[in-house]
Amino acid sequence: MQIQENISLKKYNTFGIDVKARYFIELKNEEQIEEIFSSEVNSEKRFILGGGSNVLFTKNYEGLILKNSISGINKLTEDSNEVIIEAGAGVIWQDLVNYCVKNKYWGIENLSLIPGTVGAAPIQNIGAYGQELKNIFLNLNGFDLLEKVKRNYNNEDCQFGYRDSIFKNSLKGFFLITSVQLKLSKRANPILSYQPVMDEIDKRNINNSTIAQISDMICDIRKSKLPDPNEIGNAGSFFKNPEISENTFEHLKKEFKDINSYKTESGVVKISAGWLIEKCGWKGKRKGDVASFEKQALILVNYGNATGKEVLDFAEEVKKTVKEKFGILLIEEINII
Ligand SMILES: Cc1cc2nc3c(=O)[nH]c(=O)nc-3n(C[C@H](O)[C@H](O)[C@H](O)COP(=O)(O)OP(=O)(O)OC[C@H]3O[C@@H](n4cnc5c(N)ncnc54)[C@H](O)[C@@H]3O)c2cc1C
Repeated sequence: MQIQENISLKKYNTFGIDVKARYFIELKNEEQIEEIFSSEVNSEKRFILGGGSNVLFTKNYEGLILKNSISGINKLTEDSNEVIIEAGAGVIWQDLVNYCVKNKYWGIENLSLIPGTVGAAPIQNIGAYGQELKNIFLNLNGFDLLEKVKRNYNNEDCQFGYRDSIFKNSLKGFFLITSVQLKLSKRANPILSYQPVMDEIDKRNINNSTIAQISDMICDIRKSKLPDPNEIGNAGSFFKNPEISENTFEHLKKEFKDINSYKTESGVVKISAGWLIEKCGWKGKRKGDVASFEKQALILVNYGNATGKEVLDFAEEVKKTVKEKFGILLIEEINII
């Protein structure tokens, strides 16, 4: 096990923030976890890192960064209807998507091209284009780093919510996911509820969409709208879409007739955070190297050498103006370190 010291994290976070980690270990298998427990660099101050696509580092990290690179994709069981796949936490999410699309295992295709690793997917219950991880998630394995024991969590245990799970709450920071199991369908089961996907199907004149066609369409839609972190530093949506009561919504709608929203199954109304930010005049606005992305206001970008603190200050200003104009407090989706 190699322990690196004082290394730059710039290439390990998609925002491209140049901070240093005091200690850095790349975890390649479970056996190394026992080694870490008995290592002198193991401390209370540690952070588990996947692809770094949902984090904002605001200062040097004076502890241990554990970069999860546990690999492997395996088919565990299957019958004529379903298949159970297990993937190591360090597998690149898109590699797992490609594997499932190639084998026609339905359920994951709408989550195509989400950056990051398999192990991070349950943390915020990743979701896009009408699908969420929780709908295909079976269970996961990992280590409780405080009690130093292995544990398994099933779907219910994970307490999944909108960009939320137990790992962002009571287990925050000390549960290391090592593998994730998904239950996928072998029968065609397209999820076409999302309007841009329907529009794309019409445009391409497709009748019965194959899993590969859906995955391709989602990739194309994403590429046309979202900044590629290899070109412009970003961590996707900076804030969650706020959920408000119907009463508050009716009140707001009187003043803002074109408010972009939809009612959820639980009865609350979800408002587009991107719309709120855009209405406050932030879309495309730049301060130094930080900006709100010109095609999607909800994404904050680093055009080069922004510091984490500068991104955070920008985000605070955005939050302040949204609160002043709409009375809504935006909550960060990304993890601020
Ligand atoms: C351009 C772009 C588009 C995006 N689009 C979407 C989208 O459509 N939907 C969506 O949901 N998200 C989206 N994201 C956010 C991000 O891709 C996801 O949240 C992804 O799951 C993060 O994976 P990661 O490996 O990069 O995690 P990191 O950023 O490395 O970590 C995120 C959190 O997970 C924890 N973590 C990581 N690995 C483990 C592990 N093995 N065990 C325990 N904890 C762990 C970290 O400690 C941290 O708290 C987007 C990001 C970008 C840059």
